[in-house]
Amino acid sequence: MPHTAHLVDQTWQVLTETCSAEVRAEVARIVAQDKADLAATFYRFMLEDEGAQPFLSVTTVEARLKPGLQRWLGVLFGHTSRDELAGALALQRHVGEVHARAQIPVNLVARGLRLLKHEINTRLLATPLGRNELVSAVLYVDRLTDVAFEEMSAAFIQSSERSVRTDEAYRMFAAGRDLALEREKQSVAVLEWEARFYRLLAAGSSFDDMSSLADSEFGLWLNHKAPLLFDETRELPLIIECVDRIDQSLFPQLVFGRDKDLQSEANRALAKAVLVEVDEIKFLLRSMFDRLVDLDVGRDVLTQLFNRRFLPSILKREIGLARRNEESFCVLMLDIDHFKRVNDEHGHDAGDRVLQHVAGQIMSQVRGGDFVFRYGGEEFLAVLAAIDEERARAVADKLRRRIGELDIPLSGERNIRVTVSIGLAANDGHPDYQRIIERADKALYCAKESGRNRVSSA
Ligand code: GH3
Ligand code: MG
Ligand code: MG
Repeated sequence: MPHTAHLVDQTWQVLTETCSAEVRAEVARIVAQDKADLAATFYRFMLEDEGAQPFLSVTTVEARLKPGLQRWLGVLFGHTSRDELAGALALQRHVGEVHARAQIPVNLVARGLRLLKHEINTRLLATPLGRNELVSAVLYVDRLTDVAFEEMSAAFIQSSERSVRTDEAYRMFAAGRDLALEREKQSVAVLEWEARFYRLLAAGSSFDDMSSLADSEFGLWLNHKAPLLFDETRELPLIIECVDRIDQSLFPQLVFGRDKDLQSEANRALAKAVLVEVDEIKFLLRSMFDRLVDLDVGRDVLTQLFNRRFLPSILKREIGLARRNEESFCVLMLDIDHFKRVNDEHGHDAGDRVLQHVAGQIMSQVRGGDFVFRYGGEEFLAVLAAIDEERARAVADKLRRRIGELDIPLSGERNIRVTVSIGLAANDGHPDYQRIIERADKALYCAKESGRNRVSSA
């Protein structure tokens, strides 16, 4: 979310005009001096709060959240220039996105900020600041935390909306909706409407019994299901416009004002106009599905693995399940070793075949409840459900060995072998799914650094 320079300017202007540099420096000094104490007070309160408890564990608070809050306080209250303020605002948006991924309710954040304000202001009261300066300092703290909250919330809402859409698409997909079939069905539905239209037109029959396009099977699909799958595509509104033009303008002329002479100029023009619109619908429908099938939904075309688009939905679900069932899950990040050489020495097609065989091997080694994603070009990510780190390590090592033993057939009766490096991360209870991906990625990096063809744990 790019932030307009204008908003930073405006905030900077308000803050500096209403509060002198000396007072701002004094606030920064108090916060810097007491930030460990502020963080401790904050989390003592939060750990006692029933609403906040599900998101916190004592160990994560000590290891990560307290230091994180101290840094946050330092950045927000320590800024001394417009550019540093811009950085502080960017941080608020980042925090908002993290909160969204961890699904931390906004009211909890508001409660936390209210507590911090109170704690900072209590400390300001104990300083020898004069009355006017004190008022200005308190207002400054108030304004700055409000701006921070506003920025966090804006990012939070944007991220949540995005994730709701992905979740929805995931549900559609998980429900077994086959897009290729759906695409065929809808193309046929348009064709059927068109064919019926021409039959009646050619025979000079009445259109009384014929449904409008919006009421046809295709129209129902368009209005009820297509928005779930094709939300935000360029094509969908254009298709709806075509349907409107047919139903609102062309169809009524045919029903009410059709020329009795079948071959009349007017009839031919009407038929042609409908033909043009229907062609346009067919074209738009095709490209809308193409894009979705290839890019966004379902499986990766080459490997048939899950597309990484669903990774957030799956990980959020696994994090929730692990929390509720008090069990662990693990993430494996796999990367083929020296894959560039395969492409360089045997060609891109051979590289593609290797990817397919490695993907197939991963799929055959995991259980039915696990998820395997194509994460990047030659990177794969597996989510192993309900498993502890030790057993996951055994799975990963077996997988690594099996892949290394595969004789992958290339054209001309040649075979090739490849090895993989694997990073393993076990769920540590952190509510932000991005964390476990990052930890698995770091572990993968260690596996590469220490010689490849091995498994490293986070
Ligand atoms: P490392 O052991 O460090 O992982 O070495 P590497 O050569 O595997 O690493 P790098 O990530 O530099 O190279 C990955 C290569 O994978 C680069 C890219 O051309 C190739 N690649 C990515 N996607 C595809 C694909 O879909 N098909 C093929 N054939 N190659 C791909
Ligand atoms: Mg790579
Ligand atoms: Mg590689």
